[in-house]
Amino acid sequence: MLTLFTINTCKSFGCRNLGLPLSASIDYSWPDYRLGFPALHCRACGSYTPLFDEQQYNEWLSAHLKAYASEKGYFCPECYNLKTICYGYNPQRTQRVQCRACRKVWTPKRQTKSKIVPPERIETVPLIVPFQGSSAEQKLYVLFSLDADRGTVLHISTNFTPHASGETLRYHWCGNIEPDLPHSDIVNRVDMREMQFLQRSQFDEIQYGSAALKRNARGVILRPVIAVHGHFRVLNILFPQVKTHVISHECFLRGAVITAWADLFRQREGELWFIEEEINEAENDIPWTFLRTTQHGWWQSQWQLWVQGKNRKMACPLTGGDRSNAKILSLTASRYFIHWLYKQTKFTHSAKLSAGRVTQVLLALAHDYNDKMTR
Ligand SMILES: [Zn+2]
Ligand SMILES: [Zn+2]
Repeated sequence: MLTLFTINTCKSFGCRNLGLPLSASIDYSWPDYRLGFPALHCRACGSYTPLFDEQQYNEWLSAHLKAYASEKGYFCPECYNLKTICYGYNPQRTQRVQCRACRKVWTPKRQTKSKIVPPERIETVPLIVPFQGSSAEQKLYVLFSLDADRGTVLHISTNFTPHASGETLRYHWCGNIEPDLPHSDIVNRVDMREMQFLQRSQFDEIQYGSAALKRNARGVILRPVIAVHGHFRVLNILFPQVKTHVISHECFLRGAVITAWADLFRQREGELWFIEEEINEAENDIPWTFLRTTQHGWWQSQWQLWVQGKNRKMACPLTGGDRSNAKILSLTASRYFIHWLYKQTKFTHSAKLSAGRVTQVLLALAHDYNDKMTR
């Protein structure tokens, strides 16, 4: 199987098995039930990562990648190669594209002339968005990735999928939402979120609210961790060389990024950061000052606390790299985008729309936003 589809792998930074599939390491044993769920144990680093049903994941991911590629035309829907050439026109004057690797010819549904410029840094944050399902106020798990410097949206995923998906990939709401973290001190908040990860049935099993589709609706609501892995696989095909990732504090975002760019991280050529922010003054150009370092959670990760007037941020380097970089890292691009989203009535009325429709509306709004940004 292509490494593109690897999901069961050691996800520890610094481990020689990082990103290697099950068949490629003698250090692996599975399934291991020591933590109460089926896990992959890596003897080299001692980690236990939740196991996925690989066949179900592969089936869904290939449908997902194919649909993205057929829609946009940035890479080949068959072999995912990025090298494509324009290949004449259809009778309706729509552009056809050919893959230079496997010679597949197809017509992208959305005809875009502009190539996306590879970002230096990708910023990724989740957002919970209401939709109309079997009853009112059902919730979608949405993930946004933005170019941190240009501010444009690179990719949006929701955990609604129109594709067939195996039972183990589906989200099951158990009725207990993770409590919202009170607006207490930012350092406490990091600590409490780390505690929430441990209270889950497994680290990647977030319970974010009810998400039942309308009766007889087409499609499936996926476990957020599956949608997140699919999200970063698309970005990894588009931008295999991006070196810096900034993500919200969520352990399965870390796992998905480190898996998708495992080759770069194994060679210590990438940087991955958790960032938490408390922004009280949006327009502030005082430089950030480093205050102190604290350790948090099961993994005893090192977090730096920075201040800027009334603003505070916490930064956690997950893959080494230059620690002083924290000064310039932020979640500013996504904050601006989300602020803009909440001013769009199409978005604020999402609770009246189906999950599939909300997904389309988000994609269309991201398109409008990018137009506005580049103009
Ligand atoms: Zn390992
Ligand atoms: Zn191809």
